[in-house]
Amino acid sequence: MPDKLRPKGLLIVGIALIILLGSGSYLVVRAFLGYPLFWENNIGGGNEEDLLYLLDNMDYLASDTSDFVADTARISYTPPAASAAERIEDAVPEVSQAAEEEEPVQTPLSAWDLVKVHVVEKGESLWSIARKYDIDVDTIIGSNELKSYDTINIGQKLTILPFKGVTHKVEKGDSLWSIAQRYGASVDEIIETNELVSQNIQVGQTLLIPGGKLSEAEKERRLLIARGGIPEFIRPVSGGWISSRFGMRWGKMHQGVDLAVSIGTPVKAAASGTVTQAGNAGSYGLLVIIKHANGYETRYAHNSRITVKVGQYVKQGDIIAYSGNTGNSTGPHLHFEIRVNGKAVDPLNFIK
Ligand SMILES: [Zn+2]
Repeated sequence: MPDKLRPKGLLIVGIALIILLGSGSYLVVRAFLGYPLFWENNIGGGNEEDLLYLLDNMDYLASDTSDFVADTARISYTPPAASAAERIEDAVPEVSQAAEEEEPVQTPLSAWDLVKVHVVEKGESLWSIARKYDIDVDTIIGSNELKSYDTINIGQKLTILPFKGVTHKVEKGDSLWSIAQRYGASVDEIIETNELVSQNIQVGQTLLIPGGKLSEAEKERRLLIARGGIPEFIRPVSGGWISSRFGMRWGKMHQGVDLAVSIGTPVKAAASGTVTQAGNAGSYGLLVIIKHANGYETRYAHNSRITVKVGQYVKQGDIIAYSGNTGNSTGPHLHFEIRVNGKAVDPLNFIK
């Protein structure tokens, strides 16, 4: 990894130096010659002396001075918050100390060494097993691919973590930050527990998440993964930003996620399925609903135009509508929902 980092780092430092020297000499030359610096150039090319002169002689320059006074107020110079050089310096990534070290020091016992396996015996429940190891049921659920949370079988092997928390198998697009967010855990603790030497994580790698908690939606998602019946969803719009998340909002449940995009952005089917609704739906505005396998349904609201019909089968990625601001909407965005057997779940657990 350092082999890759070093040339890139040098390049960035080099560019930063050129910009620093360039802007430095610009400032010196301009200051030496007594010219105004580029941000001091006033509207119409005036400078401070000109303004003072104008103010002194305003009486015969203009009979009505109210407009002029308003202008001088606007022209007043505000220093930039940070100089260009400082901003460039901030943008240069620091080469981490860890990457420079030759070999990570191996601790004799890692957290993984403390993970136990429990073989279910007659009469046991997830609750009694959790109590036995001083963890909670969610920790067992969060570290085992269980096909049911109600029944376990005699002889079934369960992973028992040495602490309350979960495990997470790294998926495409995950970062340590997004994983920590998802489970309400700490990035530092994840790094420490898994003895990571950098922030780089590999798809498919299983991480221990101490203190990690499972939302109801996440429990449901894991159940479906274990049962092998979860559709893969893609983000229905490209670009934009999340303007509102799933969950309680102003004392009401927000059943989806709002993706702020400009009007007319193509809205794509998040997974293949059959269109069950396509038209005006009150506060949803122009709404498309697609039914997927295993009780899943996706909803796309506030569109400006719909391009599919009820009963039509769409493939993942097909354009089904163009985003808009119809219905009960306070700005252009796509309101996107994922429902499982009618119950809304957090779409951000399924899309990136
Ligand atoms: Zn919304």
